[in-house]
This record gives sequence, C-alpha cells and structure tokens, in this order.
Amino acid sequence: NNKAIATPGRTKDILAKAGFSFKKSLGQNFLVDVNILKNMLRHAGISENTAAIEIGPGIGALTEQLALHAGSVTAFEIDQRLVPILEEELSSFENATIINEDILKADIDQVVRELARDHEEVRVVANLPYYITTPILMRLLMDRLPFQSITVMIQKEVAERMAASPGTKSYGSLSIAVQYYTEASIPMMVPKSVFMPQPNVDSAVLHLEKRVEPPVDVQDEDFFFEIVRASFKQRRKTLINNLGSFFKGSVEKSEIRERMEGSGIDPGRRGESLSMEEFAKLADVFHKVK
Ligand code: SAM
Repeated sequence: NNKAIATPGRTKDILAKAGFSFKKSLGQNFLVDVNILKNMLRHAGISENTAAIEIGPGIGALTEQLALHAGSVTAFEIDQRLVPILEEELSSFENATIINEDILKADIDQVVRELARDHEEVRVVANLPYYITTPILMRLLMDRLPFQSITVMIQKEVAERMAASPGTKSYGSLSIAVQYYTEASIPMMVPKSVFMPQPNVDSAVLHLEKRVEPPVDVQDEDFFFEIVRASFKQRRKTLINNLGSFFKGSVEKSEIRERMEGSGIDPGRRGESLSMEEFAKLADVFHKVK
C-alpha cells in the first residue's frame, strides 16, 4: 500500500476494518494530512541519524513518517486495541517498535538512555494526547534525559503559554519552567480540520531544543520555581502582595520590600513583567530567609 496512513481515505479504511471506536478520554484525534507531518519532521530536525521517540502513535500516521525519515522510532501507546493495528500497518518497517504502556508510568529514562548510546541523537516527536500535555512535557524536561529536542503538536493556547515572552498575556510560571530547560518556539499552527475526529480547539507545533545549561544561575532550583509560582499566584497583584502572602508568618513585609529593592526589582511590579534573569535575582535575595 503506497498511500500514507495520514490521509482521510486510508485512515477511514483502517478504522473500519478494525471496527475501531475512538476513546475521547484518551485524546484520540488522528492526523489525516501527510504534509503537516512532513513539515513537522523538518522542524523537528529528523534525519537518519535520529532515534525518534513517539508518544501516542494512534494508528501510525506520524510513526510511519518517522520510520521513513528517522533512523528508528520507538512509540508508546496506552490503548491496547491499537497495538495489532499498528503492528499490521507498520509491518514493512523493521525500525519501528511499539511499546504498549502508559507514558506516565513507562521507564522512559531507560529507553532514552539506551537509544542515546547507539544513536547520534534522540528526539521526541508526538501529536500528544491533550489531556496530559503538561505532565508529559514537565516529566521529560525535569528528568534531564539525554535527548536533544521535543517537537509536539499540542493545544495552541498551551503552546503559546510555554513559548511566551515577558510582558505578554500568555507569560507565566509554565513559560519559565519550560524555558529554563529549553529554547521554545512555535514553528507551525495547525487547524482543527486536519484531525479525525475534529477536536474543539486549534493546535500548534511546539519545538523545544534542550539547553546544555540553564540560562540563569540560581542557588536553589526548587526555591527559584517556588518564587516564580508565588509571583504569578494572583496575576493582577503586585510582586510585593504576592510575595507577602507567600512569606506570611515568616518574613515581615518591610523586610520583603527591602530585599526586593536591594535586588533592584521594584516591589510594585507584576510578575508578568519579570524576565527569567530577574526572577533568578529575586529568588537569590530571599534564599534561606524563609
Ligand atoms: N499520533 C497519532 C496521530 O497523530 O494521528 C495519534 C495522536 S492522538 C492525539 C493521541 C494518542 O495518544 C492516542 O493514540 C491515544 O490512545 C494515546 N494516548 C493517550 N494517553 C496516553 C498515555 N498516557 N500514554 C501513551 N499514549 C497515550
């Protein structure tokens, strides 16, 4: 069969033949536009030197393209009903491996480490199940695994939050968390019309290139992220008010104000205006006072 899986005709045939019914709770929206996938692979930087890791292969729309263009593809799929379908549809590819596991429970660390040993580079590429986008991405980033990049199709608003710059509406603690580990960009917007069934929201491709080192130096990473979250707790409030609540009972407001002024950050500013460097300064002046 020389027609791609990611076409409306072939997808309908595969689903009908298997008598497959979509599970909405698993975020099952399959891609039926092969050009979008080819563009996505180009932005992901896939080549024959890449070991690709996919999350949620569905019936193999993206898996097939990865098998064609990457050195190998290892795909984690939670839905057991899809495993025989994937095995049949991808039977001609020796470089595709399907693992029937929940990505949040799988030992990805071991899989990534093994792939990194025998390949020049490891890249994660996926059309993610949207209900668990943030937990999947944060887990991949915080585990500090030896892969080069993540390129994922996700809900447009979430992609915008992750890639946002200071001073914009989408900027928040998620932007800082993601950009602490990666350089984030949104190379493509994806209309809902290219999925079967069509979701209610538009999507975007988010590309995260792992940083070799964090862009800022902080004394204590966990505390830095706590300060960031506290600063955005109530978006409309000033830093002094948000930090006042955070330090309530342990640091006097006058001391908070003094320390902030010492770090050169105006207590009357809002979290949304601070760059990552400024958050790093802020965290360091409060480190060990709480
Ligand atoms: N990659 C396919 C495509 O582009 O057409 C399917 C993408 S669909 C948006 C998401 C896929 O993730 C579904 O196949 C779903 O069964 C799978 N999935 C959902 N939750 C999962 C989990 N926790 N672990 C692994 N796969 C999951």
